[in-house]
Order: sequence, then structure tokens, then C-alpha cells
Amino acid sequence: MIYLDNAGTTKISAKAKEAMMPFFDEIYGNASSLHMAGQIAKEHLESARTKIAKAINAEPSEVYFTSGGTESDNWAISTACKFGALKGKKHIVTSAIEHHAVLHVLDEMKKQGFKVTYLPVYENGIVRVEDVKKAITPETCLVTIMFANNEIGTIQPIEEIGKICAESGVIFHSDAVQAVGHVKVDVKTLKVNMLSMSGHKFHGPKGVGALYVKKGTPLFNFIHGGAQEQNRRAGTENLAGIVGMSVALEEAVEEIESTSKKLTELRDLLLTELSKIEHSKINGDKVKRLPNNFNMCFEGIEGESLLLLLSDAGVCASSGSACTSGSLDPSHVLLALGLPHEVAHGSLRLTLSRYTTKEEILTTIKEVKRVVELLRKMSPVWDSLQKGGKHVI
Ligand SMILES: *Cc1c(COP(=O)(O)O)cnc(C)c1O
Repeated sequence: MIYLDNAGTTKISAKAKEAMMPFFDEIYGNASSLHMAGQIAKEHLESARTKIAKAINAEPSEVYFTSGGTESDNWAISTACKFGALKGKKHIVTSAIEHHAVLHVLDEMKKQGFKVTYLPVYENGIVRVEDVKKAITPETCLVTIMFANNEIGTIQPIEEIGKICAESGVIFHSDAVQAVGHVKVDVKTLKVNMLSMSGHKFHGPKGVGALYVKKGTPLFNFIHGGAQEQNRRAGTENLAGIVGMSVALEEAVEEIESTSKKLTELRDLLLTELSKIEHSKINGDKVKRLPNNFNMCFEGIEGESLLLLLSDAGVCASSGSACTSGSLDPSHVLLALGLPHEVAHGSLRLTLSRYTTKEEILTTIKEVKRVVELLRKMSPVWDSLQKGGKHVI
């Protein structure tokens, strides 16, 4: 099996898995207990927090553990909105290509009377800094813009946006789930107030994540119950998961440059070879994108069929976003690039990891070429295009 859906989730690294093992039997104390077993657990918890903080250049007290990226996004947005509402500010600025963990929370906020401005991303999939500046009003309580997109891999100008938000005194949150462990993330230079991450996107375990909250940023309780996480997020910590995540992140950051170099080469090989297929289009900026992200559209075919045939051939790929598969609507991200519906339907996302080999990429290139040709032969849409219809791409 060739696994090229690493934006969906990743395989746990051997180091992270090994580091987790003692926490299932030997080190099982509750970090809130005062006895020796509890204190040992507490030490491991805090050392994991220090590792995570170091990886993003934060202070350990600025790192709050959560159940994953979705919870971190929910918490960051709801806390900023609660604070905004207290001050009579009910306007949020975001981008049109956020993950549903952001967009669906914003839908909830709209029901509570908040207004949301969705910034366009243009054909390259990138927000323009001047648009952010123009969108901020005295009513704005939050700007939430993702670091790197999960579908097309485009990287947003987070540092510049952070600067504008800091100057305007607006809270800035970034969903960095796809970025942390993949590209350099330094919260000090980025000027973010809050930043979300998730263990399973960088070869850590599933069901664990973190929210970075800059010192001085208001933070309301999200889950009520116990005194964990500085009284802000109750519940006995998932210590095995937290340790696994911290080891995985440390490892990813250590290898970030060599991984990035290797993946950029493999990704560009996919882009060069698969661009040779006629009436195809690369989605998102070719340079300002994650090293492991490939996304293209092929005219005249359905992404879902492409995906299933590739799966039969042993290649695990994705079309649009995993969260929306099962629905027939094309991805909101591809539509935001200005692609027509029928073209957006024919998309393919391949996301690599440091475990991906060149052989796997060569096999994938061969299989994608074969399957696209096969599907086009059976496609009435392609047939009519061949008989003089108007190609869009
Ligand atoms: C995966 C992902 C999430 C959700 O993270 P989970 O840990 O799976 O809840 C949020 N945002 C982005 C950009 C993601 O890629």
C-alpha cells in the first residue's frame, strides 16, 4: 500500500510509539495526585510541555493540552468571541479556505450575533495582507487565519498578518495544524496570540493536540471540572498521548530541513510528471506551499472515481477534503480559487511524509496517468469536450 494521505493523518513514528509505552502500565499515576506516582506523572507531563514549547519558541506556561486540532480551534475562537462580546465587539475576520473546525465554529458564532468577513484567496490560494488591514474595524474582536491549508498546502503570510493585528490590538489566532512539524513555526516572530496544533498530523498519536496562548491573552475555561491546565481545561490528561506528541514533534523539528528538501523534490516530480496530462491544472501557489502537498485538477473526470480506482491500485489518495467526502459538493477551498464546479470535482490531493519513497512516487505517477486516461475514455463529459466542447483548463 502506498499511503499519500498524510494531510488526513500520519503514521506514528517509532520513537513516539516507544516513548508512549511505559505510560500504559508502569507510569500510570494521575498527574493531579499528590503521591509519588502522581508526581512522577506530573514531571513527565511538564517535560512534554517544555518540549512542545521549545519546538514553537513559546514558554511552557503558554502551552495548553487539548484533544486535538478541532478542540484547539473551538477553544481559541470561542474564547476570543466571549472576550469580544464583553467589550461589545462582535466582528471576526477569517479566510474563505479555513478548515471546518474553524468555519463551523464561526457558523455558531453567527447564530450568536457575530458578523464574519471571509477574505478571498485569489487564484494562488493566498490571503492578501492589505485585505486583512482593510477588513479590520473597531468592532473586530478576532482574526483567525490558518497557517497552511490542508487541501492545497498554501502558506499564508502569518507574520505580516500578525503585525497588523498587533498594531490594531485585535486577537490573532492561527490554525497551524498543517504547519507545525512541517515548516518552521516560531510564535515569537509570528506575533500570534493563539495557535492550534495536532499530534497526528506530524507522526504523533491521534486524539491529542495543543493550543498555544500568548501570555496576557484572555483565556476562558473551555471544559469545566478539575484544575488541570492552569484551571482552564479540565479532565485527567492523556499523558501517553501528550508524551507521544512531544517526542514526535521534537523529532519532526530536528529533521525539518532534510525532510523538507526530500519532500519538495518528490512533490515537484509529481507536479512535473502529472502536469504533462493534458487539460490539468495545479491548484494553489507552486512555491508558497507545504513541501508535502500536491493538488491538481483533471478535466472531464470525477475525483471520487479517481480516488477509488487509485485505491484499487494500492494508492491511498484524497479528493477535496476527507471531512467532506461523502458529500457531492466540491471543496470550498477549490471553489475559493475560482475553479468552476465541474473542474473542482476532478481534483486529486496527494500528501507525502518523510516515510514516502521515490519508488512509491514513480508508481503513483504511472497509476494516476493510467487511471485518468481510463476514466476519460468512459466519461461523457470528456467525450463531448473531445467533440468540440469548450475546455475550461
Ligand atoms: C486535521 C486538521 C484539523 C483537525 O485536527 P484534529 O486533531 O483531527 O481534530 C484542523 N485544522 C486543520 C488545518 C487540519 O488539517
